[in-house]
Amino acid sequence: MTDSVFLGDLSWPEAETRIAAGAVMFVPLGATEQHGRHMPLNVDTVLPTVIAERVSRRAGGLVLPTIPYGNRSQPRSGGGSKFPGTINLSAQTFSLVVRDVICELFRHGARKIVVLNGHYENIWPSIEGIELAVEALRPAGTDGLNVVRVDHWELVSADTLARIFPSGYPGIELEHASVIETSMMLAVNPKAVDLAQALNDGPARFKPYDRYPEPPAEVPASGVLSLTEGSSAEKGEWLLGEIEERLLQIVQQEFQ
Ligand code: ZN
Ligand code: MN
Repeated sequence: MTDSVFLGDLSWPEAETRIAAGAVMFVPLGATEQHGRHMPLNVDTVLPTVIAERVSRRAGGLVLPTIPYGNRSQPRSGGGSKFPGTINLSAQTFSLVVRDVICELFRHGARKIVVLNGHYENIWPSIEGIELAVEALRPAGTDGLNVVRVDHWELVSADTLARIFPSGYPGIELEHASVIETSMMLAVNPKAVDLAQALNDGPARFKPYDRYPEPPAEVPASGVLSLTEGSSAEKGEWLLGEIEERLLQIVQQEFQ
């Protein structure tokens, strides 16, 4: 019998027991996407996985395998597709994966589901996936299903943002590979971060519209959309700790 909170570590009888006991199921949504020269491609996968793990340990939850590919990286929020190693799913594919995972959890008896997103461009396709699951299940009855969808950065309070950005918060889209993500990665896995490689060629000055098919020249060559200066493991732990506490509260409120 394992005490792991990762579904993938369990045997099927163990999974059956935990689901029957009412475990909250965390579905982390990640991406394989450039995060500057100073961080690996798996940042958007690592962060929601760690948060789900921390909350699961306290809430009797189970963490599903994190979906490692995200919806198409966009220049103004993730640098776009041109960086080597960024692997995009279309919105349709991504939504259908989310739909199928939720329907499968439901089939096995899970009713308390947290879809925890770590990649900006997954927002709408994850909503679509949940809506498609509800539509697919509705004819036979959704029988107590409650899906909570959350973008982890939304759980950071204004007070914490003010502490981290004393001269003003640039906004979450521009935060790609910048202080928030870099600090959290420094807290979680400092060996994966090499700040000496950060160029600080931002912040990007984007126009308020998109152009296709060519990525706009305003994407900084490093892939960092804002700045990494001021990143620290300490700030990363402020962020992770607050996100963990608030997500635990949400789970307790929604699934009691
Ligand atoms: Zn990211
Ligand atoms: Mn991303």
